[in-house]
Amino acid sequence: MNFELSEEQQLLRDTVRDFALTRVAPVAAELDREARFPYDLVAEMAGLGLMGIPIPEEYGGAGADTVSYAIAVEELTRIDSSVAITMAAHTSLGTMPIYLFGSEAQKQEWLPRLASGEALAAFGLTEPDAGSDAGATRTRAELRDGQWIVNGSKMFITNAGTDITACVTITARTADDEISNIVVPNGTSGYEIAAPMHKLGWRASDTRELAFRDCAVPEGNLLGERGRGYHQFLEILDGGRISVAAMGVGLAQGAYDLAFAYAQERQQFGKPISKFQAVQFQLADMATEIEAGRALVHRAAWLKDEGKPFALAAAQAKLYTGLLSNRAANAALQIHGGYGFMDEFAISRLYRDQKILEIGEGTNEVQRMVIAKLLGL
Ligand SMILES: Cc1cc2nc3c(=O)[nH]c(=O)nc-3n(C[C@H](O)[C@H](O)[C@H](O)COP(=O)(O)OP(=O)(O)OC[C@H]3O[C@@H](n4cnc5c(N)ncnc54)[C@H](O)[C@@H]3O)c2cc1C
Repeated sequence: MNFELSEEQQLLRDTVRDFALTRVAPVAAELDREARFPYDLVAEMAGLGLMGIPIPEEYGGAGADTVSYAIAVEELTRIDSSVAITMAAHTSLGTMPIYLFGSEAQKQEWLPRLASGEALAAFGLTEPDAGSDAGATRTRAELRDGQWIVNGSKMFITNAGTDITACVTITARTADDEISNIVVPNGTSGYEIAAPMHKLGWRASDTRELAFRDCAVPEGNLLGERGRGYHQFLEILDGGRISVAAMGVGLAQGAYDLAFAYAQERQQFGKPISKFQAVQFQLADMATEIEAGRALVHRAAWLKDEGKPFALAAAQAKLYTGLLSNRAANAALQIHGGYGFMDEFAISRLYRDQKILEIGEGTNEVQRMVIAKLLGL
């Protein structure tokens, strides 16, 4: 067993770490405060080849493995979750369905722009009345004169409404007992994107409610086989869980970094609070759990790269790191005392950004349902 990262993986980690520290950290608080989408940073990430890490080079991506992708997501989240989810949702949810299930013509049409980061894509699964029970989708698509006529709505869709978003892949009922995936280009008549939603965290990321009213898209925009949409989105979510799990490790690591530094600066009772065993124990627990979480994430990513079953490992990594990041953000803010409750201290942003990691891409409860099923229960 070799736990060492390859040279390429180390190089990528160092590149992303440097980018996050020098380019993202100085503006993260401002972007969060103004709930402003980070267009400039997305362009810089595109320049660094970070917007299509696991997509093959022939389609404009970096052609790297899933472990590399997870490392990059972790490093971004360590500094800022809004930037991280913009990159991760674009890759795992926006681009992956087209790469995995698209025809060669569809891949040629979409992937070069998406994988290079010139344009963004979104994945619309969740609906107002179909969240955890995502198979209960009500959006319908009816084939009429060579076009899919889509009617319905989607909720909480990341990256759907930016100025550079090219398309959303949606799940829709193409018959009563049949779900399919369809690519809807932005700008299609009848596709309405609501204003950005106001959020507790991930405030600089783009989250929208979508409506489809007799929205006509070409028949050829169906992704893969008709009626395979349910299986396709389950596969997409399995992979997406690795990136959200990597966000959990990154957020916990970021919270730890802030608490570690603060504990050495802050003096009470005549010494740095890091000298109190109660504070040391919190940091020791955090550091230990972060290593455990990272190992789960890397293992899930490695299994995927090896072409082995990874759904169980991905759900376990997602569940564990969701809970880990919750404990870490809470303990790190506690170590900051009252200052941690103030906007000026980055830990308050990380604390707000944490909660969604236990909800998005399947709640903690859904992860436990997936894990129990895969354990044979
Ligand atoms: C910021 C943000 C970005 C998002 N981005 C996207 C995106 O890009 N694309 C997309 O498709 N979706 C996206 N989502 C949606 C997200 O995946 C859902 O919010 C999530 O799956 C939960 O669905 P829900 O919110 O409807 O909660 P519900 O399903 O209504 O769950 C409510 C509560 O009930 C519990 N529950 C539900 N069923 C069970 C059960 N059987 N057993 C036990 N407990 C249960 C849940 O665990 C939860 O605690 C995003 C959400 C947010 C907040």
